[in-house]
Amino acid sequence: MPPTKKVLLVFLPSESGVDGARSLYSENRINPFFNWFNRSFRAIIKQSQFAIPPLSLMILSSIEVPGVEQSICDMRFEEFPMNAQWDLVGISVQTGMAKNAFDLADHLRSAGIPIALGGAHVTLFPDSCRPHADVLVSGEADDLWKNVLNDLSTGSLKPLYRSESFPDLQHSRPVSKHALIKNRYFTTNLIQTGRGCQYNCDFCNVHLLNGHTLRRRAIEDVVSEVALFQQDDRRIFFFVDDSINADPAYALELFRKLVPLNIRWFGQATTTLGQQHELLETFAASGCQALLVGIESVEAKSRNAHKKNQNRASELVRAITTIRKAGISLYGSFIYGLDGDTLETPAAILDFINETQLDVPGINILRPTPGTQVFERLRQEGRLLFDPLDLTAYRYSFGQEMLYTPKNIPLDAFVESYSALTRKVFSVKNSLARGMAAPRAKSAVMLFNLFYTHLYGLSRHDLQHQQEKSRG
Ligand code: SF4
Repeated sequence: MPPTKKVLLVFLPSESGVDGARSLYSENRINPFFNWFNRSFRAIIKQSQFAIPPLSLMILSSIEVPGVEQSICDMRFEEFPMNAQWDLVGISVQTGMAKNAFDLADHLRSAGIPIALGGAHVTLFPDSCRPHADVLVSGEADDLWKNVLNDLSTGSLKPLYRSESFPDLQHSRPVSKHALIKNRYFTTNLIQTGRGCQYNCDFCNVHLLNGHTLRRRAIEDVVSEVALFQQDDRRIFFFVDDSINADPAYALELFRKLVPLNIRWFGQATTTLGQQHELLETFAASGCQALLVGIESVEAKSRNAHKKNQNRASELVRAITTIRKAGISLYGSFIYGLDGDTLETPAAILDFINETQLDVPGINILRPTPGTQVFERLRQEGRLLFDPLDLTAYRYSFGQEMLYTPKNIPLDAFVESYSALTRKVFSVKNSLARGMAAPRAKSAVMLFNLFYTHLYGLSRHDLQHQQEKSRG
């Protein structure tokens, strides 16, 4: 029998933000207490295991091919295991981390290890990835990866595996957690019920990567996966779908079936849920603790400018109040700096947060991601602050850098108003008050707000540093 082929799937840490509250410019800060506090805070965040496993690598490592053994290296927690022999290393590449992925790939290839690159960046920008890989996997890899593993076992790997259509998720593809070290994570109970989004928000790449048609997994597959996952991890479930209520009839049937399993869960939804009363009640009955809703903007002009038209601004307050009354806590995500925003917008956001009593507000700066419609528009309008081809510039950094010039607000005034807004929204006092007032998951809400109080402090520091640097 030929020896077993060993495959390692690698996930890289991002530069800052959710992987630990870290300043992008900490080396320049002269206050040693701040450095100490920052380091300690990052350690606490890691120990609190806010991290969740990389679902795409869970899915790929669940594919079984005789003669091939797969494991996962999550580089948020561990170094790359250079002391072992690898027949193939697969690296998941996101645009914000592409430079780090390419550096690692080049290093491993120079040591004679074959590299497969896959993920969003490979699908959108295959040409930039080709020089760093032996194998490119472009598109959703659920079926392609089996071909890669089969070819690896027969010594016939090809340079490119590309899906010509989106995989049919009705086909049963059981997901296993065997390759994960479970106690590293906040939870290992990640469930995806489907992919695709029928909307067209111009700052989002979900519809580019997963298509405009909603594809759903068979309900019985999802229910048995939840039952199986529950056996070895009693922690909370995270339904990772971009919008868990996008297909209300499907969601109603699924979550009714989950009620007897007695789980606790959180997920992401649209505020339309406030008008889907039967579904809202079923979510609450099935153990929903909290939902993230993308509010994006309270300004009608901004919603129109960025094609976020699915829920009208005027309906948002009522929808949020209704969802919270049903006993579900809400994380509301805003973007300040959209094309209809003015210096009046922060006051409107603040009023909105106070009126709705949002449990965790997230106040983001627009991050134009290469490949999205907004990136292309800003490039054409000359509003990007970095070279559009600079892969290191468009990294994920949680409101710590400006990447573009806002349309109606001078850059300096924008940074000042954004900083003033986050200072007002996030304080220890507000964190405690939001935790106490949350309909569910009070301590998690309080912790999240405290975490953000620190994180937005870093954001203010880093934005100010960037401004000072650009002025010379
Ligand atoms: S932001 Fe949400 S609703 Fe808009 S396109 Fe992306 S996934 Fe769909």
